[in-house]
Amino acid sequence: MEKVVIIGTGCAGLTAAVYAARSNLSPLVITGTMPGGLLTTTSIVENYPGFPEGIDGYQLMVNMQKQAERFGARVLTLRTVESVDLSKRPFTLTVDGEKVEAETLIIATGAGHRHLGLENEHLLEKKGVTYCATCDGAWPMFRNQPLVVVGGGDSACEEALYLTRFGSTIHLVHRRDSLRASKIMVERVKQHTKIKPIWDSVVTDILDPKADKVTAVKLKNLKTGEESTLPCAGVFVAIGHVPNTQLFKGVIDMDHNGYIIRHKGSQTNVPGVFVAGDCSDHVYRQAITAAGMGCAAAIDAERYLASLNE
Ligand code: NAP
Repeated sequence: MEKVVIIGTGCAGLTAAVYAARSNLSPLVITGTMPGGLLTTTSIVENYPGFPEGIDGYQLMVNMQKQAERFGARVLTLRTVESVDLSKRPFTLTVDGEKVEAETLIIATGAGHRHLGLENEHLLEKKGVTYCATCDGAWPMFRNQPLVVVGGGDSACEEALYLTRFGSTIHLVHRRDSLRASKIMVERVKQHTKIKPIWDSVVTDILDPKADKVTAVKLKNLKTGEESTLPCAGVFVAIGHVPNTQLFKGVIDMDHNGYIIRHKGSQTNVPGVFVAGDCSDHVYRQAITAAGMGCAAAIDAERYLASLNE
Protein backbone atom coordinates (compact mmCIF):
# COMPACT_ATOMS: atom_id res chain seq x y z
CA MET A 1 0.00 0.00 0.00
CA GLU A 2 1.16 3.53 -0.82
CA LYS A 3 1.58 6.06 1.97
CA VAL A 4 1.09 9.04 -0.34
CA VAL A 5 -0.29 9.14 -3.85
CA ILE A 6 -0.10 12.44 -5.72
CA ILE A 7 -2.26 13.01 -8.79
CA GLY A 8 -0.78 15.65 -11.07
CA THR A 9 2.72 16.79 -11.96
CA GLY A 10 2.44 20.53 -12.30
CA CYS A 11 4.23 22.77 -9.84
CA ALA A 12 1.84 21.74 -7.05
CA GLY A 13 2.14 17.99 -7.56
CA LEU A 14 5.90 17.92 -8.05
CA THR A 15 6.61 20.20 -5.11
CA ALA A 16 4.40 17.96 -2.98
CA ALA A 17 6.45 15.05 -4.33
CA VAL A 18 9.76 16.70 -3.34
CA TYR A 19 8.54 17.31 0.20
CA ALA A 20 6.85 13.94 0.66
CA ALA A 21 9.91 12.17 -0.72
CA ARG A 22 12.21 14.04 1.63
CA SER A 23 9.97 12.85 4.47
CA ASN A 24 10.76 9.28 3.43
CA LEU A 25 7.20 8.68 2.28
CA SER A 26 8.28 7.50 -1.16
CA PRO A 27 5.28 9.11 -2.88
CA LEU A 28 3.73 7.63 -6.01
CA VAL A 29 3.09 10.40 -8.52
CA ILE A 30 0.66 9.92 -11.39
CA THR A 31 1.13 12.39 -14.22
CA GLY A 32 -2.07 12.04 -16.24
CA THR A 33 -2.02 12.95 -19.91
CA MET A 34 -0.01 16.15 -19.54
CA PRO A 35 3.18 15.46 -17.59
CA GLY A 36 4.47 18.69 -16.09
CA GLY A 37 1.13 20.45 -16.47
CA LEU A 38 0.29 23.72 -18.22
CA LEU A 39 3.70 25.24 -17.57
CA THR A 40 5.28 22.84 -20.05
CA THR A 41 3.34 24.62 -22.80
CA THR A 42 4.85 28.01 -22.02
CA SER A 43 8.16 29.29 -23.27
CA ILE A 44 10.21 31.22 -20.77
CA VAL A 45 9.08 31.55 -17.15
CA GLU A 46 10.46 34.82 -15.83
CA ASN A 47 8.69 35.14 -12.50
CA TYR A 48 9.73 31.94 -10.76
CA PRO A 49 12.16 33.01 -8.03
CA GLY A 50 15.69 31.75 -8.32
CA PHE A 51 16.10 32.11 -12.08
CA PRO A 52 17.25 35.67 -12.79
CA GLU A 53 17.42 35.01 -16.53
CA GLY A 54 14.13 33.08 -16.54
CA ILE A 55 13.77 29.39 -17.22
CA ASP A 56 12.06 27.39 -19.94
CA GLY A 57 8.72 26.12 -18.55
CA TYR A 58 9.32 22.57 -19.74
CA GLN A 59 12.82 22.55 -18.25
CA LEU A 60 11.54 23.85 -14.91
CA MET A 61 9.15 20.92 -14.70
CA VAL A 62 11.81 18.41 -15.77
CA ASN A 63 14.04 19.79 -13.01
CA MET A 64 11.29 19.51 -10.41
CA GLN A 65 10.62 15.91 -11.37
CA LYS A 66 14.34 15.04 -11.20
CA GLN A 67 14.54 16.68 -7.79
CA ALA A 68 11.57 14.67 -6.51
CA GLU A 69 12.95 11.42 -7.94
CA ARG A 70 16.35 12.04 -6.37
CA PHE A 71 14.67 11.76 -2.98
CA GLY A 72 12.66 8.67 -3.83
CA ALA A 73 9.46 9.81 -5.56
CA ARG A 74 8.19 7.36 -8.18
CA VAL A 75 6.57 8.93 -11.21
CA LEU A 76 4.08 7.02 -13.35
CA THR A 77 4.34 8.91 -16.62
CA LEU A 78 1.29 9.21 -18.88
CA ARG A 79 -0.77 7.08 -16.55
CA THR A 80 -4.30 8.23 -15.83
CA VAL A 81 -6.47 7.81 -12.77
CA GLU A 82 -9.81 6.55 -14.06
CA SER A 83 -11.72 6.47 -10.79
CA VAL A 84 -11.26 6.87 -7.07
CA ASP A 85 -13.00 5.26 -4.12
CA LEU A 86 -12.53 7.54 -1.14
CA SER A 87 -15.44 6.08 0.85
CA LYS A 88 -13.24 3.85 2.98
CA ARG A 89 -9.64 3.58 4.01
CA PRO A 90 -7.30 2.78 2.48
CA PHE A 91 -8.43 4.76 -0.55
CA THR A 92 -8.52 2.89 -3.84
CA LEU A 93 -7.54 4.40 -7.17
CA THR A 94 -7.97 2.74 -10.52
CA VAL A 95 -4.99 3.67 -12.67
CA ASP A 96 -5.35 2.46 -16.25
CA GLY A 97 -7.24 -0.58 -15.00
CA GLU A 98 -4.90 -1.35 -12.09
CA LYS A 99 -5.87 -0.87 -8.45
CA VAL A 100 -3.65 1.28 -6.25
CA GLU A 101 -4.29 1.57 -2.51
CA ALA A 102 -3.29 4.71 -0.66
CA GLU A 103 -3.29 5.95 2.90
CA THR A 104 -3.32 9.57 1.80
CA LEU A 105 -4.03 11.33 -1.45
CA ILE A 106 -2.86 14.71 -2.72
CA ILE A 107 -4.99 16.10 -5.54
CA ALA A 108 -2.97 18.43 -7.77
CA THR A 109 -4.80 18.03 -11.04
CA GLY A 110 -4.61 21.67 -12.09
CA ALA A 111 -6.93 23.56 -14.38
CA GLY A 112 -7.24 24.01 -18.11
CA HIS A 113 -8.06 27.11 -20.13
CA ARG A 114 -11.72 27.46 -20.99
CA HIS A 115 -12.14 27.29 -24.76
CA LEU A 116 -14.58 29.11 -26.99
CA GLY A 117 -15.58 25.79 -28.47
CA LEU A 118 -15.06 26.77 -32.12
CA GLU A 119 -13.73 24.23 -34.58
CA ASN A 120 -11.18 26.64 -36.04
CA GLU A 121 -10.05 27.64 -32.56
CA HIS A 122 -8.76 24.13 -32.19
CA LEU A 123 -7.28 23.99 -35.71
CA LEU A 124 -5.41 27.27 -35.26
CA GLU A 125 -4.14 26.70 -31.73
CA LYS A 126 -0.49 27.76 -31.56
CA LYS A 127 -0.91 29.20 -35.07
CA GLY A 128 -2.27 32.47 -33.76
CA VAL A 129 -4.84 31.21 -31.27
CA THR A 130 -3.44 31.15 -27.76
CA TYR A 131 -4.57 31.12 -24.14
CA CYS A 132 -1.63 32.91 -22.56
CA ALA A 133 -0.35 36.31 -23.62
CA THR A 134 2.56 36.24 -21.23
CA CYS A 135 3.66 32.92 -22.73
CA ASP A 136 3.12 33.65 -26.42
CA GLY A 137 2.56 37.40 -26.84
CA ALA A 138 6.13 38.13 -27.90
CA TRP A 139 6.00 35.82 -30.92
CA PRO A 140 7.15 37.67 -34.06
CA MET A 141 3.85 36.97 -35.83
CA PHE A 142 2.06 39.28 -33.39
CA ARG A 143 4.47 42.24 -33.64
CA ASN A 144 2.78 45.44 -34.78
CA GLN A 145 -0.33 43.52 -35.80
CA PRO A 146 -3.95 43.93 -34.72
CA LEU A 147 -4.76 41.36 -32.03
CA VAL A 148 -7.97 40.16 -30.45
CA VAL A 149 -8.45 39.34 -26.77
CA VAL A 150 -11.70 37.60 -25.80
CA GLY A 151 -13.17 38.01 -22.31
CA GLY A 152 -14.11 40.64 -19.78
CA GLY A 153 -12.46 39.51 -16.54
CA ASP A 154 -9.13 40.32 -14.93
CA SER A 155 -7.35 37.79 -17.12
CA ALA A 156 -8.62 39.37 -20.33
CA CYS A 157 -7.67 42.86 -19.12
CA GLU A 158 -4.25 41.67 -18.04
CA GLU A 159 -3.70 39.95 -21.38
CA ALA A 160 -4.83 43.03 -23.29
CA LEU A 161 -2.58 45.35 -21.31
CA TYR A 162 0.39 43.01 -21.74
CA LEU A 163 -0.20 42.74 -25.47
CA THR A 164 -0.04 46.52 -25.92
CA ARG A 165 3.75 46.02 -25.89
CA PHE A 166 3.58 44.01 -29.09
CA GLY A 167 0.39 44.54 -31.09
CA SER A 168 -0.67 47.60 -33.06
CA THR A 169 -4.26 47.58 -31.74
CA ILE A 170 -5.72 45.27 -29.13
CA HIS A 171 -9.41 44.59 -29.71
CA LEU A 172 -11.01 43.45 -26.47
CA VAL A 173 -14.11 41.47 -27.42
CA HIS A 174 -16.56 41.06 -24.57
CA ARG A 175 -20.03 39.56 -24.62
CA ARG A 176 -21.50 42.26 -22.39
CA ASP A 177 -21.14 46.05 -22.22
CA SER A 178 -19.19 46.19 -18.97
CA LEU A 179 -16.11 44.41 -17.73
CA ARG A 180 -16.27 42.13 -14.73
CA ALA A 181 -12.61 42.81 -13.97
CA SER A 182 -11.46 44.75 -10.89
CA LYS A 183 -11.86 48.53 -11.05
CA ILE A 184 -8.16 49.24 -11.33
CA MET A 185 -7.88 46.91 -14.32
CA VAL A 186 -10.94 48.43 -15.96
CA GLU A 187 -9.44 51.90 -15.56
CA ARG A 188 -6.11 50.83 -17.02
CA VAL A 189 -7.83 49.22 -19.99
CA LYS A 190 -10.06 52.22 -20.62
CA GLN A 191 -7.14 54.61 -20.45
CA HIS A 192 -4.90 52.68 -22.80
CA THR A 193 -5.11 54.16 -26.26
CA LYS A 194 -4.11 50.91 -27.95
CA ILE A 195 -7.00 48.92 -26.45
CA LYS A 196 -10.31 49.13 -28.30
CA PRO A 197 -13.20 47.35 -26.56
CA ILE A 198 -15.86 45.73 -28.73
CA TRP A 199 -18.91 45.38 -26.49
CA ASP A 200 -21.84 42.96 -26.55
CA SER A 201 -20.03 40.78 -29.04
CA VAL A 202 -18.86 37.24 -29.41
CA VAL A 203 -16.36 35.57 -31.71
CA THR A 204 -18.32 33.20 -33.93
CA ASP A 205 -15.43 31.98 -36.09
CA ILE A 206 -11.67 32.31 -36.52
CA LEU A 207 -10.08 32.50 -39.98
CA ASP A 208 -8.22 31.07 -41.81
CA PRO A 209 -7.33 27.39 -41.42
CA LYS A 210 -6.49 27.20 -45.12
CA ALA A 211 -3.76 29.82 -44.63
CA ASP A 212 -2.66 27.86 -41.53
CA LYS A 213 -2.66 31.07 -39.49
CA VAL A 214 -5.02 33.56 -37.96
CA THR A 215 -6.05 36.29 -40.39
CA ALA A 216 -9.36 37.49 -38.94
CA VAL A 217 -12.25 36.76 -36.58
CA LYS A 218 -15.93 36.81 -37.32
CA LEU A 219 -17.93 38.74 -34.75
CA LYS A 220 -21.58 38.92 -33.85
CA ASN A 221 -23.12 41.75 -31.89
CA LEU A 222 -25.52 40.09 -29.48
CA LYS A 223 -27.72 43.17 -29.15
CA THR A 224 -28.11 44.09 -32.81
CA GLY A 225 -27.39 40.72 -34.41
CA GLU A 226 -24.96 42.46 -36.74
CA GLU A 227 -22.13 40.27 -38.06
CA SER A 228 -18.72 41.53 -39.10
CA THR A 229 -15.18 40.40 -39.91
CA LEU A 230 -12.22 41.88 -38.06
CA PRO A 231 -8.71 41.32 -39.47
CA CYS A 232 -6.16 40.26 -36.85
CA ALA A 233 -3.03 38.15 -36.49
CA GLY A 234 -3.78 36.62 -33.11
CA VAL A 235 -6.66 35.59 -30.87
CA PHE A 236 -6.00 35.45 -27.13
CA VAL A 237 -8.78 33.59 -25.39
CA ALA A 238 -9.11 34.64 -21.74
CA ILE A 239 -12.55 33.51 -20.70
CA GLY A 240 -11.61 31.76 -17.48
CA HIS A 241 -10.36 28.38 -16.44
CA VAL A 242 -11.89 25.00 -15.82
CA PRO A 243 -10.48 23.02 -12.88
CA ASN A 244 -9.64 19.41 -13.65
CA THR A 245 -11.76 17.97 -10.87
CA GLN A 246 -14.43 15.94 -12.64
CA LEU A 247 -12.95 12.76 -11.17
CA PHE A 248 -13.92 13.88 -7.67
CA LYS A 249 -17.42 15.20 -8.31
CA GLY A 250 -19.88 14.16 -5.62
CA VAL A 251 -17.09 12.96 -3.34
CA ILE A 252 -14.90 15.96 -2.63
CA ASP A 253 -16.49 19.32 -1.73
CA MET A 254 -16.20 21.85 -4.55
CA ASP A 255 -17.50 25.35 -5.17
CA HIS A 256 -20.04 25.97 -7.93
CA ASN A 257 -17.21 26.30 -10.48
CA GLY A 258 -15.69 22.95 -9.56
CA TYR A 259 -12.73 24.28 -7.53
CA ILE A 260 -11.96 21.99 -4.60
CA ILE A 261 -12.64 23.56 -1.22
CA ARG A 262 -9.90 23.50 1.40
CA HIS A 263 -11.29 23.08 4.90
CA LYS A 264 -8.22 23.26 7.11
CA GLY A 265 -4.85 23.97 5.54
CA SER A 266 -4.83 21.80 2.45
CA GLN A 267 -7.31 19.29 3.88
CA THR A 268 -10.44 18.52 1.85
CA ASN A 269 -13.72 17.31 3.36
CA VAL A 270 -12.34 13.75 3.29
CA PRO A 271 -9.73 13.19 6.03
CA GLY A 272 -6.49 12.04 4.43
CA VAL A 273 -7.23 13.74 1.10
CA PHE A 274 -5.36 16.98 0.50
CA VAL A 275 -5.38 19.41 -2.38
CA ALA A 276 -2.90 21.84 -3.94
CA GLY A 277 -2.60 24.17 -6.89
CA ASP A 278 -4.94 25.46 -9.56
CA CYS A 279 -7.64 22.82 -9.04
CA SER A 280 -8.27 24.56 -5.74
CA ASP A 281 -7.17 28.12 -6.50
CA HIS A 282 -8.93 30.44 -8.94
CA VAL A 283 -7.40 33.57 -7.49
CA TYR A 284 -3.60 33.45 -7.76
CA ARG A 285 -2.94 30.65 -10.26
CA GLN A 286 0.80 31.18 -10.32
CA ALA A 287 3.56 28.58 -10.56
CA ILE A 288 5.03 29.77 -7.29
CA THR A 289 1.72 29.76 -5.38
CA ALA A 290 0.94 26.28 -6.70
CA ALA A 291 4.38 25.13 -5.55
CA GLY A 292 3.74 26.60 -2.10
CA MET A 293 0.41 24.82 -1.89
CA GLY A 294 2.08 21.57 -2.92
CA CYS A 295 4.59 21.97 -0.11
CA ALA A 296 1.76 22.60 2.38
CA ALA A 297 -0.19 19.56 1.19
CA ALA A 298 2.83 17.27 1.62
CA ILE A 299 3.45 18.58 5.15
CA ASP A 300 -0.24 18.14 6.00
CA ALA A 301 -0.21 14.58 4.62
CA GLU A 302 2.90 13.74 6.62
CA ARG A 303 1.37 15.11 9.83
CA TYR A 304 -1.87 13.28 9.15
CA LEU A 305 0.00 9.98 8.73
CA ALA A 306 1.91 10.63 11.94
CA SER A 307 -1.35 11.32 13.78
CA LEU A 308 -2.68 7.90 12.75
CA ASN A 309 0.12 6.27 14.70
CA GLU A 310 -0.28 8.37 17.84
P1 NAP B 1 -13.45 35.32 -14.96
O1 NAP B 1 -13.37 36.37 -13.92
O2 NAP B 1 -14.35 34.15 -14.73
O3 NAP B 1 -13.87 36.04 -16.31
C1 NAP B 1 -14.15 35.32 -17.45
C2 NAP B 1 -14.65 36.29 -18.50
O4 NAP B 1 -14.87 35.57 -19.70
C3 NAP B 1 -15.96 36.97 -18.11
O5 NAP B 1 -15.93 38.31 -18.50
C4 NAP B 1 -16.99 36.19 -18.91
O6 NAP B 1 -18.08 36.98 -19.32
C5 NAP B 1 -16.20 35.76 -20.12
N1 NAP B 1 -16.67 34.50 -20.66
C6 NAP B 1 -16.84 33.32 -20.02
N2 NAP B 1 -17.24 32.37 -20.86
C7 NAP B 1 -17.31 32.95 -22.09
C8 NAP B 1 -17.64 32.49 -23.36
N3 NAP B 1 -17.99 31.21 -23.59
N4 NAP B 1 -17.61 33.35 -24.40
C9 NAP B 1 -17.26 34.65 -24.21
N5 NAP B 1 -16.92 35.16 -23.01
C10 NAP B 1 -16.94 34.31 -21.96
O7 NAP B 1 -12.03 34.66 -15.29
P2 NAP B 1 -10.59 35.31 -15.20
O8 NAP B 1 -10.56 36.64 -15.83
O9 NAP B 1 -9.66 34.25 -15.71
O10 NAP B 1 -10.34 35.50 -13.65
C11 NAP B 1 -10.46 34.37 -12.76
C12 NAP B 1 -10.09 34.81 -11.33
O11 NAP B 1 -8.70 35.15 -11.28
C13 NAP B 1 -10.86 36.05 -10.90
O12 NAP B 1 -11.13 35.93 -9.54
C14 NAP B 1 -9.88 37.16 -11.14
O13 NAP B 1 -10.11 38.28 -10.32
C15 NAP B 1 -8.55 36.49 -10.85
N6 NAP B 1 -7.46 37.13 -11.58
C16 NAP B 1 -6.82 38.16 -10.96
C17 NAP B 1 -5.81 38.82 -11.64
C18 NAP B 1 -5.12 39.94 -10.96
O14 NAP B 1 -5.59 40.36 -9.92
N7 NAP B 1 -4.04 40.43 -11.50
C19 NAP B 1 -5.47 38.45 -12.93
C20 NAP B 1 -6.15 37.41 -13.54
C21 NAP B 1 -7.16 36.76 -12.84
P3 NAP B 1 -19.15 37.55 -18.27
O15 NAP B 1 -18.48 38.69 -17.59
O16 NAP B 1 -20.29 37.96 -19.14
O17 NAP B 1 -19.49 36.42 -17.36
